[in-house]
Amino acid sequence: MSIKIQKVDVGINFTEYCSNIIEKASSQYEKIVFICANRRPIRFIEQKLKIDTALKVDFFTIEEFARFLTITFSKKMPKVHTPIERDIFFLDLIKKIDSLYVKLGNSDAKVFPWAKKISKLFDEIDRQLLENRLSNFQYVEAIEPAKNILENLKNLYKIYKKEYEDFTYNGDFFIKSIPITESDKFQNRYENSCFIFVGTVYLSNSEKRILKNISNKNDIFFIVQDDLQRQDKFTKDNTNYDFETFSVVDRLIKQLKSLSKCEILESAKTNNRTTNIDFYEFSDTHLETSFIAETIKKEIQTTENKKSADNIAVILPQSHALLPLLSYLGKIKDIPLNITMGFPFSYTDFGLFIESLFNVVIDMKRKPKELYTVDSKLLLNLINSPIFSVFKQNKFNISEIKLKIITAKSSIYKFSENNDFFTSVLKPFLDINKMGDFYNAIKLLPDMIDKEILTDNEGYEFTSQVIHYFYTEIANSLEKINSERECNTLLAYYILKELIKDLSLPFEGQPLSGIQIMGMLEARLLSFNKIYFADVNEGILPFGDKIDPLLPESIKKEIGLTSFKEKEMLMKYNFFRLVYSAKNAVICYKSGDNTIEKSTRSRFVEQLILLKEIKEKQKITVNMPKIQTIKSLTKNRENKIKKDKDTVRYFENLNNLSPSSINRYMNCPYQYYLKNVKNIDEQITLDADFEYDKVGTLVHKLLEIHFKKYLNETVNKDIYLKIEKDIVKDIEKLPKGFNYKSEVAEYLGKLNSFQLDALKIILKFRIETFFKNTSYDFKNFTPIYVEKKLENSKLHIYGFADRIDEIQNEQGKIIRIIDYKTGTSTPFPKKNLDSVTIPKTPSNNATYDNTTLNAIRDAFGSIQLPAYIVMAKEKFTEEKVEASIYQIGSYQKNETIKSMSDKDIKIYNLALQYIINHMKNSEYIYAFNGTHCSYCNYNHICRFADNTVI
Ligand code: SF4
Repeated sequence: MSIKIQKVDVGINFTEYCSNIIEKASSQYEKIVFICANRRPIRFIEQKLKIDTALKVDFFTIEEFARFLTITFSKKMPKVHTPIERDIFFLDLIKKIDSLYVKLGNSDAKVFPWAKKISKLFDEIDRQLLENRLSNFQYVEAIEPAKNILENLKNLYKIYKKEYEDFTYNGDFFIKSIPITESDKFQNRYENSCFIFVGTVYLSNSEKRILKNISNKNDIFFIVQDDLQRQDKFTKDNTNYDFETFSVVDRLIKQLKSLSKCEILESAKTNNRTTNIDFYEFSDTHLETSFIAETIKKEIQTTENKKSADNIAVILPQSHALLPLLSYLGKIKDIPLNITMGFPFSYTDFGLFIESLFNVVIDMKRKPKELYTVDSKLLLNLINSPIFSVFKQNKFNISEIKLKIITAKSSIYKFSENNDFFTSVLKPFLDINKMGDFYNAIKLLPDMIDKEILTDNEGYEFTSQVIHYFYTEIANSLEKINSERECNTLLAYYILKELIKDLSLPFEGQPLSGIQIMGMLEARLLSFNKIYFADVNEGILPFGDKIDPLLPESIKKEIGLTSFKEKEMLMKYNFFRLVYSAKNAVICYKSGDNTIEKSTRSRFVEQLILLKEIKEKQKITVNMPKIQTIKSLTKNRENKIKKDKDTVRYFENLNNLSPSSINRYMNCPYQYYLKNVKNIDEQITLDADFEYDKVGTLVHKLLEIHFKKYLNETVNKDIYLKIEKDIVKDIEKLPKGFNYKSEVAEYLGKLNSFQLDALKIILKFRIETFFKNTSYDFKNFTPIYVEKKLENSKLHIYGFADRIDEIQNEQGKIIRIIDYKTGTSTPFPKKNLDSVTIPKTPSNNATYDNTTLNAIRDAFGSIQLPAYIVMAKEKFTEEKVEASIYQIGSYQKNETIKSMSDKDIKIYNLALQYIINHMKNSEYIYAFNGTHCSYCNYNHICRFADNTVI
């Protein structure tokens, strides 16, 4: 029996080639064991086999094979450990060695990270059969805890082997598989069978032994992909160069030859294979992923065989680019997406929520227990988590806690002992004494989440999946650990951190069709017509030389463990194999010019560029797509959700709308939907604008009080300036004389003297600037109402005018409706009404898509003033009416007042009627995203949010 080695050129479709090999072998052997480097190609190969052949084949990855052998052939099956069970086993093992436990930190929380490192190291030593190479190393340059471990390494391994007899794990499966593959039982089972190994270019010592044993009795086919055109060899200035990109293949063949009798089969070649390679540079991930997504969307329209899984693939070496890519790709009609990579749980809102929760409880744990205090910033971080938007409404008064933190401006927040948030969310984690408490605290969280928000709201599918996955994976792992084992908050945090680190969310998809999105390792052995690579940067591809705090590279080499250099060679092979196997490759990398982190394009990119320049005998230009190009590509995306039954009912029953709610709908129906239909609280921003809410209420109230005194009296300039002086006097007296019982009064009461002085200065400056700006073209007026309710019975709308004046001019009496605005970013109404065609008689039969609504939005900017005019005209039927916004935050004279007359009232009526009808009749809720999304208080949960940084 022998090992038959065959090289296959990377240009040949490898899965197809393998399926042909299997078909041929099936006529010579009773059974075929097919062992592949990774699982994904197996699905493609299985699909291509005849049914009779497929029934003869057992498919495995190498890890699955070792596990299968251990489970099937072991006389007494040891307990298979989960990663966290194994880490806890090592923690307990170190605890038994008192001196080492003390040196590593003398507490479970401090020793746990080392236990995890030792667990991983010993697993690798098992797989590499390196027990005999171990020593108790004296390594003075290592950090103190590592030094202590290295000094005891051999002894520790011995104790581990003795104590681990009843358990098993990854590396141990390989150790156990060696004698199994020598056994009669194994050989009888696989008599007349052949083994086909594909995709492996690196063999561990245990794998070599297993291969050697199998080759004694069975035929082995070892098929490996290679660049048979040797594209990385070139001659320049009479010197030969070789990048040795595929040297791992030659090394592998050498190793196989040393194991057993080998037969080299004729290589499978292709003629004149070429890969067209383009290079693109981006400043950040969003630009990069939006470019990839939009290019794919354009290209797919003209691609034949659109649904083929061999067509287009995107390789993401880092999973953080996955969500931006998916959001830019959206749903492409009739084209399935298949994502063969997980999204790291720690990057999700829920992952960040867990991290913030532990930051808070660990901080509380450090402080005296009876004080119930926490660092305000850590608490703010936690309660700002978007996850609270899916907590049961009103269960904890998060906004109240936020308000208290902001108004008190103290670095410490004190909970009352009975505070609901404290007892329900924090206390279970503070009171962890045993593993069982930890498990119970984790299990309590789902009860606080409002499942209806998750299931009823289309935007929450991912959050729902994240939360569900967290509980099935984490809670199940914790349940397996002895519930009586001692634990504490800090250890719980470390354990959770480790569990979360390895947790990534699988995406559903159709593996055998459509656009394929995957990581580098998942793409092994596959080939595509066009392949997009993201993030081909140093530190990513190849990944950086991470310093191992436990084991320096020199000791790794001495023991015989895989060195960083070897790992880099494997990565290089995988990358170039993938590039050369494609007809077209798009290599994207980040320049990092616009980010804090400096990014350098990968040495792999440099190699490709150099080779291309030599081949084409000219300098290669790297494309740098402009932001505008990408933006215009993304602009045409239609974002909408279909109304469900409850939403349809909500809109049908709408009545008595206010101008501001109509305006909200017009500007972004999806924002209206989140706020008004789903009742989701807006995210309270913690910037200065939050306080401007209070400042705004104060200004409104002061103006109301003082203009009320002059109702139905003519206000000339002197009186006007007197009003200003009286208001300023009132400001100086603050907080006295201000009997406005509200959160504003509460807010004033909490300010210290410095803050109060600062507030007075701001208020005075605003009032004085406002009166100054409105005094230039002053005309006498008569205030006739303040805080006056207006309505329109036909449209069923109502609102409150801040002030209503009567003015006399040459044309007669004019009624002026005033709306004070105190924010800094209020959109002014435009008067671009010629650009919009509103259906003349909006009815239930009109089209309620996004086109007309968008046009109205573009024409009006804000619909509030037209709404005031329409309402005022119902009361002041005979008079001319104009409506004005008085912008009190503005320093510019010409931006202080914006007015609209009733001249176009017919269009206002039509526009308002259309918007209201749109609310009631549109089948969809549209999201009008754009640059304004960055100011939207739903940005954090909105899946349509445009977060493009310009
Ligand atoms: S983030 Fe943008 S798209 Fe989403 S609700 Fe807000 S404005 Fe609309």
